[in-house]
Amino acid sequence: MHATIIPEEWQFEKEVVCFNCQTKATQVVRIKDRQGSVICSVCGAQRHYVIRSVIYGTDTPPMAPVGMKYDAWAFAKTSECLNCKEHARHSVHLDEYKMNVICDECGFSRVLKLDYLVFPHVLSHE
Ligand SMILES: [Zn+2]
Ligand SMILES: [Zn+2]
Repeated sequence: MHATIIPEEWQFEKEVVCFNCQTKATQVVRIKDRQGSVICSVCGAQRHYVIRSVIYGTDTPPMAPVGMKYDAWAFAKTSECLNCKEHARHSVHLDEYKMNVICDECGFSRVLKLDYLVFPHVLSHE
């Protein structure tokens, strides 16, 4: 049975100091198929990522995000791979410029790059 896999949205949360409001806040990470986002639960600042390349199983995996100004984050998610169709563990690495999603089973990699930022309207309290 080789039904088409409908990509599901993955969601992760990470408690870190926000790049925008500089407070320790839950950052909500969402990844679906060819795009990803990180949204601050306090100030609403958003980073949006779009896919730049797809690598089908290789000995030279894409450069993992290392974090330029901020730490790289790592998550894992077990889900059906869009390539090998296995119910496999996927490694997710991201920093402020890049996201990698890699199937641990077949090496299928999605490389997403920062596309745009959304800064919330800042209200002055003075
Ligand atoms: Zn924030
Ligand atoms: Zn796979």
